[in-house]
Amino acid sequence: MASQELIKRLEETIENFPDFPIPGIQFKDISPIFLDPKLYEDVIADMAAFSKGKVDAVCGIESRGYLFGIAIAVALEVPFILIRKKGKLPPPVISEKYDLEYGSAEIETREGQIKKGQRILIHDDLLATGGTTEAAAKLVEKQGAAVAQFSFLIGLKDLNGTERLKKFGAEVYSILEY
Ligand code: AMP
Repeated sequence: MASQELIKRLEETIENFPDFPIPGIQFKDISPIFLDPKLYEDVIADMAAFSKGKVDAVCGIESRGYLFGIAIAVALEVPFILIRKKGKLPPPVISEKYDLEYGSAEIETREGQIKKGQRILIHDDLLATGGTTEAAAKLVEKQGAAVAQFSFLIGLKDLNGTERLKKFGAEVYSILEY
């Protein structure tokens, strides 16, 4: 969906850091995008075009999922809901635990912000193994809403995150794939 021109500008802007924060990880730093307001605006327009008319609310995953997620929601004129790490939101909250490579983690939303029957876009900056996004999708379904779409700036193909999200039957979009 994104134009070749937008893909090229993003490829030239996002910086790759081998072996950060630990050996074996190719860390994608998206922060240079925010030095270029026009590029940021074009990313939001592209992401909003993907979701226009298809979702009732956007859920963004802490913390880089907020950087684009809120602007996408504003462009779509729909609510934005924060999915946060455990212990950051005041109660009552709805939680979902998930496994990490070592140990486990938990994410939460404020009770009542996601409404029954809503079609939800789950957004994050980057899809790697899909573990975090899968937990976010379970959190959404737990609240009687449906995951209609997932969007990411970047998808890392080799880690098979898209496969892991298939069970939700939602559209998956990444502007860039590595
Ligand atoms: P995962 O649960 O494995 O799909 O990991 C996704 C989350 O980890 C996203 O919120 C990313 O911000 C972060 N992440 C994972 N791998 C990378 C990477 N290579 N570069 C930058 N961020 C990453």
